[in-house]
Amino acid sequence: MAKTAPVQKRMKMHVRKGDTVMVIAGDDAGKEGKVLTVLPMKQQVIIDGVNIVKKQTRPTRTNPQGGTVERPGPINVSNVMLVCPNCNKNTRLEKDTAKDDKVRVCKKCGKAVD
Ligand SMILES: [Zn+2]
Repeated sequence: MAKTAPVQKRMKMHVRKGDTVMVIAGDDAGKEGKVLTVLPMKQQVIIDGVNIVKKQTRPTRTNPQGGTVERPGPINVSNVMLVCPNCNKNTRLEKDTAKDDKVRVCKKCGKAVD
């Protein structure tokens, strides 16, 4: 009989696609960029311009020369902080549970981030 697949917990992430974040650890510390992709299963994010990895590509129809492609690679979400769009500071978030569990509130200026 088929066993039930192990349930992988979808951890909540403090950043979302489209957020502007600052890298606080690692080689790219201090860089800011927009979140392009979130990978909740891996607790990773891909940020525009951060952790650029070079990839050798074979020639394709769209790129007949092949060659090197540079693109941002994933980094651990714990290495980034959200940059508040209201006060422009990198900040931690509070959840405004009184109103709505999904509302994220900046700890520094108290305004909703979304
Ligand atoms: Zn703020």
